[in-house]
Amino acid sequence: MKNFEGFGLSPTLAKSLAYMKYTTPTPIQAQAIPLALEGHDIMGSAQTGTGKTAAFAIPLVEKLLSNPRGSALVLTPTRELGKQIMDIMHQLLGPKSSIKTAFIIGGESMGKQLTQLRARPRLIVGTPGRINDHLERGTLMLHDTHFLVLDETDRMLDMGFTVQLERIFKYMPEKRQTLMFSATLPSNILKLSQKYMSEPKRIAVGETNVVAKNIKQDVIRIEQDQKYKELIVQLHERQGSVIVFIKTKYGADRMANNLRKDGFTADALHGDLRQHKRDKVMKNFREQNFRVLIATDIAARGLDVPHIEHVVNYDLPQVAEDFIHRMGRTARAGAEGSAVSFVSGQDGRKWHAIQLLLNPDSVRKPANDKFVTRRGASSSSSRKKPSRPHETRKPDARKKDVHGEKSGKSNFVKRFHRGKKKAA
Ligand code: AMP
Repeated sequence: MKNFEGFGLSPTLAKSLAYMKYTTPTPIQAQAIPLALEGHDIMGSAQTGTGKTAAFAIPLVEKLLSNPRGSALVLTPTRELGKQIMDIMHQLLGPKSSIKTAFIIGGESMGKQLTQLRARPRLIVGTPGRINDHLERGTLMLHDTHFLVLDETDRMLDMGFTVQLERIFKYMPEKRQTLMFSATLPSNILKLSQKYMSEPKRIAVGETNVVAKNIKQDVIRIEQDQKYKELIVQLHERQGSVIVFIKTKYGADRMANNLRKDGFTADALHGDLRQHKRDKVMKNFREQNFRVLIATDIAARGLDVPHIEHVVNYDLPQVAEDFIHRMGRTARAGAEGSAVSFVSGQDGRKWHAIQLLLNPDSVRKPANDKFVTRRGASSSSSRKKPSRPHETRKPDARKKDVHGEKSGKSNFVKRFHRGKKKAA
């Protein structure tokens, strides 16, 4: 499939795609769109930033445009991702569309949502909690909703959300079309997903559970109390927008404050902020009104901010899969990006789980386990020779350590590919 014309899409949709400058389908779109248009259930996986949103949004909008009746529901794990999807849906529907939409997320006023729901929307995008609220109040009807999308499927089907989903599905027709997409699909989730689909077509573009290849990765072995200093160094060395992932909400606020005191433009995004503040932070970041976004894992999945050039894993994620998603906030749509992970002595278990996910082979061979280190003059095998907590940095060695990888591939990436080759 060379361009979108071959799909036989409605003129309105074709016009929207041209306006959005989508001329050629990405591989996941080329495979998913025709199958979805034929009415199949789909379980799709492709790496971060490769166009999964349009892979479900295009057939969804086409179905709405070509059928006068019926509605569609898109469920996402976070409000920010929901908003991004809603924006894309509006772009695809076009500015003059008569198809009404409703954006149903927590933290926003019920009044606005009730107005949208009274207008009989044919497209509902939202997060499970608030969708359930409306279903229980009888302000949202899904009996005519035959098209369902679960974006970030593995997150949606994990323990935290399944109860909510089960409740939502009870309000929907049993006979419906279901599309599921993610960059990571643990085997238990893949199995569980079968329960909610009927003879799904499995589409996997590239490898599942891998960090996108166009991301240059570095790993820094560092003690917890040295991380902030190291972050400052990294921010000075790097140019462009940065997203820093941190474990706690309080920590995110405090770090944003400290960075501002240290002369950087920074703000924090986390689940304790009021929704209007969350919106404001995202808007300002998208518009490049500040450079460093400090975020908890609510920003790990799906967010498409093309100018993010660097990801910093200040703390490692609780869930190994989120490592891949965090990395995917950079290097989107074929761009290049870079990422650095701070790994402290306390992170052993989490780091092991991440490696096990990315490359089981390398975990079985610790001798190959080389990290870039901040504390010595060159890379060192950190498992055999852990970095010394009180050793001072050698400033002239620093550049060589992390940026000496002129080939564009870090030790980590090299190790990863080595492992994959062996596995193949
Ligand atoms: P996604 O993975 O859906 O978040 O998409 C990643 C980026 O690719 C977004 O900035 C999209 O706007 C862009 N994109 C998706 N599909 C296409 C396409 N067919 N042509 C050009 N850009 C695209």
